[in-house]
Amino acid sequence: MLSTAEALPVSVTSEFAFELQVCQWAERAWVPADDSAVLVARQLGTKHRRWDTVVLECDPDGLRERAKLGAESFDSDLLHVLRNAPADWTYYRDALPDPGYPWRYVRESIHEAADRDALDTRKRGNRIQIRRVRPYPDWLRRIVAIENKPDLTASAARDLAPQLERDVALSLADEVWVATAATGERVEPVLLTDMPAAAGVLTVDADRGTAEDVWQPRSLSVADPGTRILDRPDDDHSAARFEYVDPDWKRERRLAIAERAYERGWRAYADTMRPDCRHFQLRADETGVYPYCAAKERVPTAAECRGACPSYEPEPPIWRSKGWPLDGGPGGAIRRLLDRRRRRQRPGLSE
Ligand code: SF4
Repeated sequence: MLSTAEALPVSVTSEFAFELQVCQWAERAWVPADDSAVLVARQLGTKHRRWDTVVLECDPDGLRERAKLGAESFDSDLLHVLRNAPADWTYYRDALPDPGYPWRYVRESIHEAADRDALDTRKRGNRIQIRRVRPYPDWLRRIVAIENKPDLTASAARDLAPQLERDVALSLADEVWVATAATGERVEPVLLTDMPAAAGVLTVDADRGTAEDVWQPRSLSVADPGTRILDRPDDDHSAARFEYVDPDWKRERRLAIAERAYERGWRAYADTMRPDCRHFQLRADETGVYPYCAAKERVPTAAECRGACPSYEPEPPIWRSKGWPLDGGPGGAIRRLLDRRRRRQRPGLSE
C-alpha cells in the first residue's frame, strides 16, 4: 500500500528506478511547446527501437474526444478503419482505402472496432456496411523521446551516441533527449561526450526529483521522409548503408505509439511486477511514488520482481478475504490505485 509515513528518500538504485523518476518529473513538470496537455509513458517505440520515456504533447480538446473511444489502444489496423470510416452507411470496401494487405484482416478489424462500440456495422445482403460512431480526433501534436542513462560513463556514451544519431536521422519523434544524473560538476560530463548536437540533454537531481535542460534539442522534421541507418561501419573508409522512410509510415507509426502510450502510461509496471507479493509496497517521498520491496529494501527492478524471485511470498489468503478491508487484498488495491492515477491523466475517462 502507499506509505507516506515511511517517506524515506527512495534512492535511485537502478536504471529502472531512474526511469520512473524521469517519468514522475515529466508528468509533473514537462513544459510543452504551447497549451498542450502532457501524457507520459515508458518503454514504447517500434520493432527496431524502444524509447525509455515517451512524452506526448496533446491537443486538450482532441484528448477529451479521444477518451470517448475508451481507454484501450487502437493498433494500426484498427486506426486504418476508424480514421477512414464514413459518416453515412457505406460498403466497407468503398469507404476504406486499399490497406495493402488482404481485406479479410480489415473485416476482422471492423468486427473488433464494432465490439468496442467504436464503429457501427450492419449487413445489407452479403455486404458489410460501416458508419463511424464519431470522428477519430486529431489529438496528438508532438512526441518527445527520452533515453535514460543515469550513469553516463564514457563507454555508455559511446553506445548511446549511435542510437541517438539513428533517432535524429529517422525523425520519428519531434525531439530526442538523453537524461542523466546530475553530478554537480561545473561542466556536466555529458556535455563533453560525443552526443549528436540535435539531441537535448537533461540532468536529473535524484534527491530532489528535479531536472534541468542543459542542452536544447533541435525540432526534428517528422513530416518529411526519414533516413533509417542500417549499418554504420567503424572505419571512416566504408560507406554507411541506409534507406529512406516514407512520411506516411512515420505518421502511422507515431499514432500507433501514441495510442499505446494512451493506454499504458508509465504506471503499467504493476502489470508485470508482483504487487501481490507480501513484500511489495508503494512508497512516497518528495519526488513521487515508487514501488518498493521490503525484502530487498530498495526499488525492485521490473526484471527481478517476478514469481521466480527467490524472496517472493504471496500475500496471505487472509489479506484477501475476511478481516481485510480492501477487495482483493493489498496487491489488488495497489493495481487499482495505479490505474486510477493513470486514468486521472486522461481527461474525459471515468475513474
Ligand atoms: S520479494 Fe521479489 S517478488 Fe516480492 S516484492 Fe520483492 S522483488 Fe518483488
